[in-house]
Amino acid sequence: MYKRYILFLITITAPVFAIEQVSLCAPDFSKSQFTGYAVGIRPARKGNFRLEVQTFGTKTLIHNYGHGGSGISLSWGCAEVISELMDNAYQNEKPSIAILGCGVIGLTTAFELLDKGYPVTIYASDFPPNTTSNIGAGLWDPFLLADKNEFIRQVGARAFNRFKSQAEEDFPEVKGVSHIDVYSFERSEQRRRLSPLLNPVDVEVTFDHTITHRGVRWHTLRIDGDLFLADLLEKVVLKGATCVQRTFDTKDAILTLDKDVIINCLGYGAKKVFQDPLLLPIRGQLLYFAPQSNIDYVFGYGTDSDNRHFFFIPWENRLIVGGTYEKGEEECTFSREAYHRIWENALNFFSHSPSLTAD
Ligand SMILES: Cc1cc2nc3c(=O)[nH]c(=O)nc-3n(C[C@H](O)[C@H](O)[C@H](O)COP(=O)(O)OP(=O)(O)OC[C@H]3O[C@@H](n4cnc5c(N)ncnc54)[C@H](O)[C@@H]3O)c2cc1C
Repeated sequence: MYKRYILFLITITAPVFAIEQVSLCAPDFSKSQFTGYAVGIRPARKGNFRLEVQTFGTKTLIHNYGHGGSGISLSWGCAEVISELMDNAYQNEKPSIAILGCGVIGLTTAFELLDKGYPVTIYASDFPPNTTSNIGAGLWDPFLLADKNEFIRQVGARAFNRFKSQAEEDFPEVKGVSHIDVYSFERSEQRRRLSPLLNPVDVEVTFDHTITHRGVRWHTLRIDGDLFLADLLEKVVLKGATCVQRTFDTKDAILTLDKDVIINCLGYGAKKVFQDPLLLPIRGQLLYFAPQSNIDYVFGYGTDSDNRHFFFIPWENRLIVGGTYEKGEEECTFSREAYHRIWENALNFFSHSPSLTAD
């Protein structure tokens, strides 16, 4: 009898399964909340992004492009590496610099070099808010980094630390960065492999006290592109950069610029201008909904190649719902098929609201 009592006590006091229980609000995906859509091309590069120095006569050309679906995440790390390269090469000289491109890669590179006292002119066809970088969802994600080399992991870690301090300072050097939790469902094994940096933990999540799903949660940073890029551009101009609207068709046209150092941050535009066959487009399509103050987490369901896949990420002025990952597609056109699929996947997951449809 005594033994049975002890056994009973152990059974009820032992942690049966150390899985964390979480309650979250579900977003409202009804038609009245829909505000628009966006399409962008991720500038992926076979093997890796290009961070490389070339010399043409008296001119130095530095490439910084091809960051695929991680350009925002890696931006500060690449910018810091280029600024160190410049300091090592030029010591106390301050040669004139042309930066080609005014997305997140061009702007972070400009910011670093202006801080070191280099005179910078930015040339671009388009400026924020009209760049691919404004479409990027802005999740700091070491996507595809885990199996890359040590240099790339270091670039990622440097970028993460820089964004992290921006998220934590009262007066950050650039606005728009904050801490956020990600809840991911049906991709936990993939995530565990890809995100060892972020230590995913198992969770059981109940949405609106109604539907429960097992998944993983990790903590990362969110870069709200509207706020971040506007502030970054403003600060780069305040630090003294000159911005010139100009489109280049060839490398030769670029080499006629009257600057000592030219830094190529053209994103997918580098494919045509620099004839780079390794640069490949990956199209991404997103839906926009009105901002919802109770949604303060990032959500992902399914894998990129899975038909049920969708994700969402809240920004101050919109809830972004994605998305597609269409390799080889370089036309920036939105498809009705993608629009329906993304929206219906979102509605199906939160299907305790059956009255909602995506028509
Ligand atoms: C749907 C989607 C979601 C994404 N989500 C994320 C995410 O969550 N996290 C993340 O880290 N990344 C994400 N990305 C990837 C990220 O947005 C890109 O890697 C990043 O924006 C690339 O920045 P960039 O400055 O190289 O290119 P861009 O932003 O495209 O800037 C290129 C600049 O070059 C100029 N230019 C191009 N060609 C020429 C030319 N011939 N002459 C003159 N100027 C030219 C353009 O006008 C522009 O100013 C996402 C991308 C997409 C499409």
